[in-house]
Amino acid sequence: MLDANLKTQLKGYLERLTMPVELVASLDDSAKSAELRELLQEIASLSDKVTFAEADEDMRKPSFAIVRPGTDISVRFAGIPMGHEFTSLVLALLQVGGHPSKEAQDTIERVKNLDGDYRFETYFSLSCQNCPDVVQALNLMSVLNPRIRHTAIDGALFQDEVEKRGVMAVPSIFLNSLPFGQGRMSLEQILAKLDTGASERAAEEIAAKKPYDVLVVGGGPAGAAAAIYAARKGIRTGIAAERFGGQVLDTMGIENFISVSHTEGPKMAAELAAHVKDYEVDVMDLQTATKLIPAATPDGLATVELQNGATLKAKTIVLSPGARWRQMNVPGEAEYRNKGVAYCPHCDGPLFKGKRVAVIGGGNSGVEAAIDLAGLVSHVTLIEFDGQLRADAVLQAKLRSLPNATVIVSAQSTEVHGDGARVTGLAYKDRTSGEQKTIELEGIFVQIGLVPNTEWLKGAIELSPRGEIEIDARGQTSVPGIFAAGDATTVPYKQIVIAMGEGAKVALSAFDHLIRSAPVEVKEAPASEGREAA
Ligand code: FAD
Repeated sequence: MLDANLKTQLKGYLERLTMPVELVASLDDSAKSAELRELLQEIASLSDKVTFAEADEDMRKPSFAIVRPGTDISVRFAGIPMGHEFTSLVLALLQVGGHPSKEAQDTIERVKNLDGDYRFETYFSLSCQNCPDVVQALNLMSVLNPRIRHTAIDGALFQDEVEKRGVMAVPSIFLNSLPFGQGRMSLEQILAKLDTGASERAAEEIAAKKPYDVLVVGGGPAGAAAAIYAARKGIRTGIAAERFGGQVLDTMGIENFISVSHTEGPKMAAELAAHVKDYEVDVMDLQTATKLIPAATPDGLATVELQNGATLKAKTIVLSPGARWRQMNVPGEAEYRNKGVAYCPHCDGPLFKGKRVAVIGGGNSGVEAAIDLAGLVSHVTLIEFDGQLRADAVLQAKLRSLPNATVIVSAQSTEVHGDGARVTGLAYKDRTSGEQKTIELEGIFVQIGLVPNTEWLKGAIELSPRGEIEIDARGQTSVPGIFAAGDATTVPYKQIVIAMGEGAKVALSAFDHLIRSAPVEVKEAPASEGREAA
């Protein structure tokens, strides 16, 4: 199953094992079981610390546990963790085999100290790039604390289970048989949900923080660039983000980040975090800003209020809250979200194998999604509001050439129909004839663009009619000392390279503002020197 290259790489990784590891498989006579047996035997042949055994100990077949013999430590996969989950398999082998995790020591301690018995199950798909984070976080938790059990299940292979539990989006996490979470979650997020005192402790810590010279709100490419540029000036820099990484975390392949021919979103997000950590930046992840109070007080400091009740103060602020998926805002959409209404074709497409789906939106992302889905589903209908598609001609031609794809233009989606548990159809109005029509289907993928995350800024600074932050050429908002960058602003073309450039620019503008307003106290020499003033 593994090609020569992969075998060589895996052999190298397995040399890091410090303790023996046993692969215990539950198999039946199916072809998939034979495939898994072959994979596990191959892995065992690559290291004398790894052994393979079969035992009929789990009802899910094929499945296997990675066990540290003589201990309670184990991690279980149901299905064959290749595709995006291959890294999860390698990490699980290493961690069960005693290789230390790179997680922060205080996080590790918090996991070890969790009191209680937790039995997690995560449904993933092999093409879901949001799933490995969840699978790897829960696997690590179960290695650190044996009272935590985790089984990662390939939803495409256990369709009956998926149907029974109403799983229509991955990753879907169950705790002790009850729904626990849906979508990408980091270890910190899972921990915050289990460790109920964590939010109050974080609020107390934040409330005690001294004012910043530059406070960045938003941890996507724009915010990360701004934080790095500000910290390189040696000034006190903080960054508060609801989800560090931003939209990049939801991106499959990135091929237009100049000088990098190809990368993947989660990899870039991890690199952004690592680069920010190279500098003295106070990173406050999982913190949502709810209010901005520009500097009206005699201390000349602006205030940002957070959802947990804490407040942060700063001499200058960089706003980079980015954007999120636009919703159709029709009856039934919210009710059937994750029950057939989906926003990520790469993640959730495999769960609709052999079913009928619609894609809403005829731009590049909608047409690309429809082409991808056509390879999996029985039929895909693309619905576009306008009289024609807006996607590149080459994509349109490809879509129209597919035998199981239909394109409907001049159609306004009006309602998502369902039976209470899942989607059963989509109603739309034919904008040419005015006729109401319904398509029977099981899934709806919404691909109609993005809205800026700026609702919390209304009244504090000027926003455009589309809700984007109005900025000038230096990235300054309508309020002096408050700057903004990235997808949340009026800057045209929402792209990573543009967001980063804008983030860098506004950090320099903020520094310029600081030195013109009052003497800036430079803390210390930056971690590495740039050639230019920046
Ligand atoms: P975001 O990436 O949206 O980050 C916003 C940050 O702000 C996040 O950390 C968020 O959690 C945080 N935040 C939001 N609200 C608050 C709040 N109230 N309080 C605190 N924090 C908050 N671009 C390319 O160049 N190439 C591509 O191939 C590409 N593919 C894409 C594919 C997909 C599926 C998507 C969705 C986007 C893609 N983009 C691509 C666009 C690119 O990801 C964005 O342009 C870029 O991420 C914008 O960066 P940003 O920092 O402005 O915002």
